[in-house]
Amino acid sequence: MSNDDAKAREINLVCMSGQGSVQTVQLLARAFFEQHGMRVRTQVAPGGRPKSSPVVSYLKASAGPIAGGPNFHPDDVLLFWSGLLRVAANRAHPTVTDAIARQRSGNLIINSRLAPGEIELPYKFSGAVATVDADSITNEILRRDPPPVGVTMAGAYIAVTEVVELDRFLALVKERFPGRLGEQNVEAARRAYEEVRIEREVVGASQEVPHPRGPEDRVDPLSRPPLPVLISEDKGRPRGYRGGAANIWRTKIPVSDDQLCGCDNMCISEVMCPDNTGFIVRKGLPHQGYRVDVDLCRGCGICAEVCVYSALSMANEEELMRTNPTYEGITVEPFINYSGEGGRS
Ligand code: SF4
Ligand code: SF4
Repeated sequence: MSNDDAKAREINLVCMSGQGSVQTVQLLARAFFEQHGMRVRTQVAPGGRPKSSPVVSYLKASAGPIAGGPNFHPDDVLLFWSGLLRVAANRAHPTVTDAIARQRSGNLIINSRLAPGEIELPYKFSGAVATVDADSITNEILRRDPPPVGVTMAGAYIAVTEVVELDRFLALVKERFPGRLGEQNVEAARRAYEEVRIEREVVGASQEVPHPRGPEDRVDPLSRPPLPVLISEDKGRPRGYRGGAANIWRTKIPVSDDQLCGCDNMCISEVMCPDNTGFIVRKGLPHQGYRVDVDLCRGCGICAEVCVYSALSMANEEELMRTNPTYEGITVEPFINYSGEGGRS
């Protein structure tokens, strides 16, 4: 993109907390400013928790004055986790839905192992779809779990859009992260730049996802119909008690070592669960243990952190789905017969 072409641009970076969208949006803003002399404005809609809650970072870059607020017509959307598409399709999180489903054209760049043609877009869209396995690239190079994929995703973004020069951007990355961390991020961004797969002229589903702006859009999440499986990466995940997951954006899930689970009365993990979805089962199992409704657990890890006897640990869900596809010991059937008494405990 030449300086003359540098017109106003709106970019949404949608991630889970810890994935690095805030630093990335600042780096991209600086790149726009330094390369094109554009005015830039960034804004962050932070997640409610330090882990496992969605964060949306907005960037506006323009030759003229810039209004504040979220982006209403994003040219580019970067999804740091492909499951966020499903969140948008089901309007499970208003800010995420707004940030993704408002895009009607432009470039959609997704952190996914799938090819662009395998991504099912649940809303109206006509433009370029690109995918890059940013998790694997970042994990391999930075060896962090969960991998902070922000700069890696920016490498893919620059390859797709060419809005800023890669080398200029990478110089800013090195300045922001001095030393080895900077080198690693630069390597990850270069890999993503080379490995991103792009399909131009993709047309999404015709479904109109209404913008969750008015009170009429604030529907009870539990009243929604069961969710369609939109992304094949989700296949294999069992349904929870609600008949479909509105709120799954976790990467980890609590696993109970029932032999260690020993509180007689109150279970502090159950009490502290912010979604009221983890619970203790005292009857109907060989030993009491902690279980979750897989529809609603967000994988925040609070239950494991507060567990009195360290009976809970957070397991990588992708690995778990391979070794324990029925989630045995993690969830229980809602109709389990607790010695004929019914109920949860
Ligand atoms: S706090 Fe931990 S050990 Fe105690 S009942 Fe709950 S899960 Fe079991
Ligand atoms: S069960 Fe544990 S990980 Fe899941 S939402 Fe509750 S506190 Fe968080």
